[in-house]
Amino acid sequence: MIAFGPVPSRRLGRSLGINNIPPKICTYACVYCQLGRTIKMQTERQSFYEPEEILQDVRDKVEKTRKAGEPIDYLTFVPDGEPTLDINLGREIESLKPLGIKIAVITNSSLIWREDVREALMQADWVSLKVDAVREGIWRRIDRPHGTLRLPSIQDWLLKFAKAYTGHLVTETMLVEGVNDGEEHLVEIADFLARLQPGIAYLAIPTRPPAEEWVRPPAEEAINRAYQILSQGVGQVEYLIGYEGNAFAFTGDVEQDLLSITAVHPMREDAVDEFLARAGTNRAVVRRLVAQDRLVEVGYRGHRFYLRRLGRHSKD
Ligand code: SF4
Repeated sequence: MIAFGPVPSRRLGRSLGINNIPPKICTYACVYCQLGRTIKMQTERQSFYEPEEILQDVRDKVEKTRKAGEPIDYLTFVPDGEPTLDINLGREIESLKPLGIKIAVITNSSLIWREDVREALMQADWVSLKVDAVREGIWRRIDRPHGTLRLPSIQDWLLKFAKAYTGHLVTETMLVEGVNDGEEHLVEIADFLARLQPGIAYLAIPTRPPAEEWVRPPAEEAINRAYQILSQGVGQVEYLIGYEGNAFAFTGDVEQDLLSITAVHPMREDAVDEFLARAGTNRAVVRRLVAQDRLVEVGYRGHRFYLRRLGRHSKD
């Protein structure tokens, strides 16, 4: 099946997925890939499915979903490989527009140096670009790119694309312990993102079984540090950690709301106090969540922060 869902997504609301690449054909073989090892590595674009087949499948799914009275916020190209390898991507986006639903593409950015890829992405309403590393050695270790790809060229074209693109641009950075989470490297990523200026920079950690068994999410201290460093370069940074937290919808249940907010970003001590005061309660609830190991307290540059227990020790 090419079209799947719609599935709830914090970033995109109700998103109907489009799987326009057979498993797992990619330009990268990321160590953390949750689809397993790359079966076929290539950088040549080609046609995998007839565009008409994709369109028909999406149209059918949209019709069924609408008949069931369910809304769809985005049609999202999020395949089992790299979506820009599909040589018909631009045509497909164009043909889907009459459905009147916004279109999103989640790409690893590796083919952004190609004019036809940029032209296709330009047509989407929302584009997520992968920026896991800005140093050559780290890029090779974490994303394990096809031998013909060149990082300086990708970076150069990412900046040019970001400048010209008029839709909603976000970035995604997957943190892997001991690979790309060092302080110096994160400062370099923050500098690069400051030039790219995404609307939101998402920080992800591996939450599902990765391609390589040795891959681990960083500890909470390192995840908080990454958040603070990236925040110096980009206005808005959010976690993407597999919990569907929503920092902006309050349920009135203080415990749940604290877990939701900290699933999106860490909270500084003074923000927690302010939140608790507004809710007419005190620190007891935070102490309980820490005791239950659902919240973690970490220090960074003289401040205390509270984070959702994210990594490998997670109980949720
Ligand atoms: S770019 Fe995406 S699909 Fe390709 S190997 Fe990396 S995580 Fe997997």
